[in-house]
Amino acid sequence: MFRKNILQKIEEINESMQGIRSSDSNESSLFSSDASSEDHDEGTESHEVEKSFLLMSRESDYLTNLEKALQRIDDGSYGICEVSVDDPEKCECPESPLIPEERLLAVPNATKGVFCKEKKKLNLL
Ligand SMILES: [Zn+2]
Repeated sequence: MFRKNILQKIEEINESMQGIRSSDSNESSLFSSDASSEDHDEGTESHEVEKSFLLMSRESDYLTNLEKALQRIDDGSYGICEVSVDDPEKCECPESPLIPEERLLAVPNATKGVFCKEKKKLNLL
């Protein structure tokens, strides 16, 4: 069930990355037809490119994490809070050491339960 969910997310990301790429090529064809225009705002243009680049790298990070999640399914460590593996005493996740199922479905690349994630954020771990 988790594997299917992850594979679906991977597909969605691949599609949205393709979307970003094709909107890029639209922009650049606009740009070239506009190249004779002297008052073209290059600053805005490079900002747009930068933005989609950032988006792409964020999406591909997510993709990498999802692929790692698939590997964890294979080796059997998927859905176990990382903190409980390192230090079981510190994990206060409600279903410790397991990450609750609904969290895994919402955030398939989660490596920690919500409790541990929040604690980590607050530097309590
Ligand atoms: Zn935990």
